[in-house]
Amino acid sequence: MQNFVYRSQPARVVFGRGTIGTLAQEAERLSVDRVLVLSTPEQAEQAEAIATVLGQRFAGLYPKAQMHTPVDVTVDALSMVEHVGANALLSFGGGSTTGLGKAIAFRTDLPQIVVPTTYAGSEATPILGETEHGRKVTKSDPRILPEVIVYDVDLTLTLPVAMSVTSGLNAVAHAVEALYAREGNPVISLLAEQGISAFARALPIIARQPDDPDARADALYGAWLCGLCLGSVGMALHHKLCHTLGGMFNLPHAPMHTALLPHAVAYNAPAAPEAMRRVAGALGASDAAGGLFDLAEKLGASMALKSMGMPADGIDPAVEQAMANAYWNPRELEGEGLRRLLANAYEGRRPG
Ligand code: NAD
Repeated sequence: MQNFVYRSQPARVVFGRGTIGTLAQEAERLSVDRVLVLSTPEQAEQAEAIATVLGQRFAGLYPKAQMHTPVDVTVDALSMVEHVGANALLSFGGGSTTGLGKAIAFRTDLPQIVVPTTYAGSEATPILGETEHGRKVTKSDPRILPEVIVYDVDLTLTLPVAMSVTSGLNAVAHAVEALYAREGNPVISLLAEQGISAFARALPIIARQPDDPDARADALYGAWLCGLCLGSVGMALHHKLCHTLGGMFNLPHAPMHTALLPHAVAYNAPAAPEAMRRVAGALGASDAAGGLFDLAEKLGASMALKSMGMPADGIDPAVEQAMANAYWNPRELEGEGLRRLLANAYEGRRPG
């Protein structure tokens, strides 16, 4: 048996189709009447349309969320919070918009309603990564965890296939690392397996038929489960390497996760055989690392970090930085192995 500690994250989750119709009720439940809606510039129009559901409770739209949650954007948004007298936040979008809502909530303790439109899973975690002076710093705090998540499957029907695939594999990465986490526990492991198998089932259908509502529901449910994994147990080599590469070379978040995951898994495989068995089982594959690579490649994801803008001479400094930041991993970090891992991910070679 396994000794364990399990702590649930307090959040209200509304899941289904057409659930954005409940946003005014959700605001009422929180006893808030001045809701500031957040989005990226690309999703401003859609956010504005959704804001109408809030009726009198709509206090304004701040459509300037950016990737990596730059602190200067947060400071600018905070002045709007004050200007409109907001007493709640509604983040409409992917992890970048959710990040902005979390950054504001961390500083103001305003309640957050999140309406996710990707599979990143940030809405289910008390974690915030924000960037200042070119450095991304991660913190965890109960104020950061959103109070309400409204998952509306209909909003994801138009998520482009390429983004669906990489965002889905970004979610799968949370579940995979939860299966070998130091604080792992049987409840989170169950969610992790279910999350991985939801995406393994749903993504091939979405790639053929992007507006299939059942596959979209499966994927969005998987995103929530994988987000719970990320928010509940510590992540290891894969997430730390993504953090390093993202910071050093500004690589796109979800595509980078997709290309790196099979290689981080191959590196950790000898030290986590039970987790590997469960990942492979959830994928319906004979081997975890190969199964992850084949799923992503079959779905058309780019598997080479060099195609995302990583420079060839970036491998050595990345290994150096990854080795410099001590963190727990099931397998000891060893320079030559990490160099091989990154060289394989750089070229997009299949592991094994
Ligand atoms: P994103 O939020 O940056 O979105 C990428 C682009 O896609 C944006 O322009 C966005 O407006 C657009 N978009 C989003 N949904 C769409 C849809 N349904 N249809 C069309 N376009 C859509 O991407 P992401 O991968 O969701 O989030 C990445 C960010 O989230 C990173 O900064 C990452 O660090 C962070 N993140 C944080 C956590 C956490 O727990 N703190 C977890 C996962 C990711």
